[in-house]
Amino acid sequence: MQDRLTEALKAQDVEYADIRVEDTTNTWVNFRGPDLDTIGSARTVGGIVRALYKGGWGYATFNDLDDLPKRVREACETAKLVGRDTTYFAPAEPVVDVIPARLVKDFRQVPLAEKKATMEAYNRIVLGYHKSIQASSVRYADYFKTVHYANSEGTYIEEEIPDVNMIVAAIARDGDVVQTAFETGGGADGFQSVENFHEKAESAARKAVELLAAPPVAGGKYSVITNQVMTGVFTHEAFGHLSESDFVYENPRMQELMQLGKRFGGDGLNILDDGSRPGGLGTHRYDYEGTTTRKNYLIKDGILVGRLHSRETAAKMGEQITGNSRAVFFQHPPIVRMTNTYIDQGTAKFEDMVKGIELGVYAVNSIGGQTAMEMFTFSAAYGFMIRNGQIAELVRDVVLTGNVFDTLMNIDMIGNDLGWEPHGPGGCGKGGQHPLRVGLGGPHIRIQNCVVGGQQ
Ligand SMILES: [Zn+2]
Repeated sequence: MQDRLTEALKAQDVEYADIRVEDTTNTWVNFRGPDLDTIGSARTVGGIVRALYKGGWGYATFNDLDDLPKRVREACETAKLVGRDTTYFAPAEPVVDVIPARLVKDFRQVPLAEKKATMEAYNRIVLGYHKSIQASSVRYADYFKTVHYANSEGTYIEEEIPDVNMIVAAIARDGDVVQTAFETGGGADGFQSVENFHEKAESAARKAVELLAAPPVAGGKYSVITNQVMTGVFTHEAFGHLSESDFVYENPRMQELMQLGKRFGGDGLNILDDGSRPGGLGTHRYDYEGTTTRKNYLIKDGILVGRLHSRETAAKMGEQITGNSRAVFFQHPPIVRMTNTYIDQGTAKFEDMVKGIELGVYAVNSIGGQTAMEMFTFSAAYGFMIRNGQIAELVRDVVLTGNVFDTLMNIDMIGNDLGWEPHGPGGCGKGGQHPLRVGLGGPHIRIQNCVVGGQQ
């Protein structure tokens, strides 16, 4: 493949060109209620050529590898039609590297029938747990992707990317009240990552049933503690997306808000994006422009010190490259994306964070949310009240709302217990590219004066 791509790139006559080819095999098994919903397997091969000329990009996608030089010429022609300006493209050292997958139990060797039987067992546990369990959803997916990347500067990278992921969800009902709870599993290291999940399947069912009896949280302003997953979702969604420099570059208001050197939080606040973190959902040795991934500080000791870049945005803004040019599928050109984004751990013990709160809310895990510029709304999977310095009763409908900048300023304790969202399906969406695998993490954090929505 290296020779093929290198040879094809000889057809380019612009300032820069690259080719990315992806060969993906995948399988899936989905149960909905007692029935098998879908099951199957597929293989997809395709790629994209990018060409850069006078600041203009030309693209050509393809499904077969015949006549690659023609695709390269097409992308170059398009680039010449749109290029009118100056090219900004930060330099990166050419590399040649091969990154093989490391699997404990290779899921490509596991028969589809075995995958089905494994998921069916989890599904049966959920449905049989309690009479108030009305429905279930068990979704399994795996893929093995080989990415070949070459550019006109001499870089060639071949990376195998395996992924196994699963979600087991339980839906409980009591009259008008419907509650859902789920557990996710999987990993980049093989099929064993979704085996022996029986207890977790049961715990999803138990949580859904428990939530039926839990009262909705009373709306108001509270001292709030978020667990690792909620901290990670908040960091990625509310802050991380504002650090993607294509967005900043195109948006004057964001440039003003996201000025480097500005204070965003207390001295203990550190927010990072690290594509090189071993085992992360957003981990790669290189991004899709051949840039080595690295640990990038966004906020250091409370001060905004950096943002995420492609080679183009780094050059345009006169900042360092960060290795954040990523794409979801071969049809997509890479754009500026997060990798593994997190608040770094501090020194506070969880008990001490709780101890200081007379009346507060502990928000656990996340079932999604929305952001609009600096405003956010996130729903926790569930929560607990904190009363007189102790974790008290289970509550549901815990929705956190606020302004990200105020909220960062209101963090008064940062836990010593950095953790990451467990492996599961889904990912980040941006510019029509979804779901991109990203890692979300952080420690427990304590936020003062946080608005919690709910019944008044
Ligand atoms: Zn996102």
